[in-house]
Amino acid sequence: MEKKSITSRAHCLVLAFPGQGHINPMLQFSKLLERQGVRITLVTTRFYSKNLQNVPPSIALETISDGFDEVGPQEAGSPKAYIDRLCQVGSETFHELLEKLGKSRNHVDCVIYDSFFPWALDVTKRFGILGASYLTQNMTVNNIYYHVHLGTLQAPLKEHEISLPKLPKLQHEDMPSFFFTYEEDPSMLDFFVVQFSNIDKADWILCNTYYELDKEIVDWIMEIWPKFRSIGPNIPSLFLDKRYENDQDYGVTEFKRDECIEWLDDKPKGSVVYVSFGSIATFGDEQMEELACCLKESLGYFLWVVRASEETKLPKGFEKKTKKGLVVTWCSQLKVLAHEAIGCFVTHCGWNSTLETLCLGVPIIAIPFWSDQSTNAKLMADVWKIGIRAPIDDNKVVRREALKHCIREIMENEKGKEMKSNAIRWKTLAVKAVSDDECHALVRRHHVGPASIRNW
Ligand code: UDP
Repeated sequence: MEKKSITSRAHCLVLAFPGQGHINPMLQFSKLLERQGVRITLVTTRFYSKNLQNVPPSIALETISDGFDEVGPQEAGSPKAYIDRLCQVGSETFHELLEKLGKSRNHVDCVIYDSFFPWALDVTKRFGILGASYLTQNMTVNNIYYHVHLGTLQAPLKEHEISLPKLPKLQHEDMPSFFFTYEEDPSMLDFFVVQFSNIDKADWILCNTYYELDKEIVDWIMEIWPKFRSIGPNIPSLFLDKRYENDQDYGVTEFKRDECIEWLDDKPKGSVVYVSFGSIATFGDEQMEELACCLKESLGYFLWVVRASEETKLPKGFEKKTKKGLVVTWCSQLKVLAHEAIGCFVTHCGWNSTLETLCLGVPIIAIPFWSDQSTNAKLMADVWKIGIRAPIDDNKVVRREALKHCIREIMENEKGKEMKSNAIRWKTLAVKAVSDDECHALVRRHHVGPASIRNW
């Protein structure tokens, strides 16, 4: 197909929340649109943009301000103060950005905004530009918050068991954590619920999931939001159908020499427990000690990501590199999960980690920390059946013996084999979701492409 000149190509502005779990999938989706001929400008906050090292050169970068350009969000003092300032300064500077681009030859045809920024849709509409909301959490979690928005579910929770259309019955331990901090501080739950305040005005509602995973909810929600589309899994094709050459794991960090992969290379197939809790979760000293002792005392190999800010919590004398274990401050998680030496993933169940493990067919042990992670853990264990939720004691700590038991269940027992085969099934369906025919059909069916962006 003939390539259009830069200015005649449709131009999409992709506005991402400042966080690894938001930038990564939105960048992957941007690459998918680019391949359909759409020109992309990625926008995030000025402070966060300083960490972005590995955005493909074809994607332009612009910034807005959250009001904390120099020191970052912690300067706000509280989540509520950050959210309030982000909304005020973010919408002002986003308005300025659209104005600037409109005056230049860089006219914007469509804004794809992280649903955490509902104000971005209001600004977009002031300019008469098309706006698509991109949901970075899973459809069960979105559904829960949407029901709070509708008033059909209240915080604090009144019922012991929560029944919502098309969702499994949920116990309190399966619900997003902000229901339980609501009385003390309603701002976090409000922040997630407000995503849906103006969503009816969006020209498109996109979610980083795939149809087979969330079939029932997707069919149900499409009756309410006819412009809803599941457009995931947004991970590089290198880890799915391998259709595109050089489709690297672009993200925040670049890995020159991959110590983890070298270390994994000589380990037997399915023999290593990979342990990582994403970019935000922080555990207390007691939990870190229990984890460390479990891994040290377990028979198998382990690869453990302990972020630099958490390293001081490791027990004194804990060795970071031995024959059976390696501790690193960060890794290319997708490369690690794709490695055949990995037998199971001990995870906090952030949505990206959840999707990544489903796409790469790795069973899990869930240790959710906060936010949507308990809900994801419930889905993994009881709906998609690819893992176990590690039991906690009265102090909310997963003890070493309990975790050792979970590891044995997955790595050595029949139950583990079943979970592995379920995980492989989800992997096959994920590949199918983005495979040649499926993906092109998706683009055709849903008109995710340059012409349609103009016609939305
Ligand atoms: N990640 C990574 N290397 C690590 C840990 C995490 O590349 O050592 C990536 C991971 O692949 C995922 C993202 O960071 O894409 C974390 O997102 P998630 O939603 O799982 O958790 P969050 O960080 O938002 O809690």
